[in-house]
Amino acid sequence: MNTTIPFVARTDEDDRDTWLEALGTAMPSYRIKPFEELSEDDRAAARVAIVADPDPADLALLPNLEWVHSLWAGVERIVAELPVDGPKIVRLEDPQMAKTMAEAVLAWTLYLHRDMPLYRRQQEAREWKMHELPLPSQRNVGILGLGNLGRVAAGRLLEQEFNVCGWSRSGTRMEGVETFGGSEGLDRLLAKADIIVVLMPLTGETRGLLDASRLSGMKPGASLINFARGPIVDTRALLEQLDRGHLNHAVLDVFDREPLPHDSPLWSHPAVTVLPHISGPTNRTTASAIVARNIAAYFANGTIPDGVDRLRGY
Ligand code: NAP
Repeated sequence: MNTTIPFVARTDEDDRDTWLEALGTAMPSYRIKPFEELSEDDRAAARVAIVADPDPADLALLPNLEWVHSLWAGVERIVAELPVDGPKIVRLEDPQMAKTMAEAVLAWTLYLHRDMPLYRRQQEAREWKMHELPLPSQRNVGILGLGNLGRVAAGRLLEQEFNVCGWSRSGTRMEGVETFGGSEGLDRLLAKADIIVVLMPLTGETRGLLDASRLSGMKPGASLINFARGPIVDTRALLEQLDRGHLNHAVLDVFDREPLPHDSPLWSHPAVTVLPHISGPTNRTTASAIVARNIAAYFANGTIPDGVDRLRGY
């Protein structure tokens, strides 16, 4: 009989069914069963589960779980909710997602580089006015987080001849990119970059990292793109810096609360572009193929991909 693998997710029925179909196609020799349909025997036999924002109470009912494979790249919620001695957490690391995210970073960097928000405002005012256009090589784009996503995004910006710098926890090196590490390195990068792209996980260390003091230390006239997680940036402080003209524009794809509440001032702010968390969507086909490969390797030889470091939080 086929091995049963629990699918544990807090999602609506349509989303669940679409995932079950994609995973079923990628893993025809397993039975992927939603948590609600597991028998007592299924629960006791489960060694691995596929999860998407799982309810920790559900996972607690799978007593022999060794690891969970998340369908999400961001794991701050599952890290916060699962007990430290709980199953190992493996997150989705999909090269296709990195390419998709890099495309978004390039698109919105070009949006800022080519002053599109300004020309939109000029059109509304029927104003015909040209502005000086710097070369991409004269624009410093600073990426916060040079991991799976940040590195591919940096590569895409380099191809476009932007001057790219990056900041990471360990001061990771990357050819063609000026890299910074540590708190003082962050201050230097913020003071230098014309466009900052946030691509770090939300952890105890990165929550509120871009606070009033750091935002005021950004280069005058710089812009911010947040494609990582909302709470990394202090929204109130960001609005202050935009209102006083110290910062030029913010492209925000992620927020403290999602969906962004109707009464948020961000919706109508002229210097803010609001996106509904669309910069790096998961592709169900490529994600399912990765999950299938990882789970097949586990059942073939017991290997589990490198998991999230619970202390670091990512
Ligand atoms: P990753 O491979 O784990 O890379 C994270 C990077 O952030 C690494 O370079 C890491 O430094 C750096 N970092 C972590 N903590 C830091 C700290 N305290 N100070 C400085 N740098 C720090 O993660 P990823 O796959 O690139 O994904 C990044 C985040 O993007 C995810 O966590 C998720 O929240 C977000 N995301 C958003 C979307 C979307 O649609 N908006 C889609 C996918 C993912 P080291 O290199 O030194 O470890």
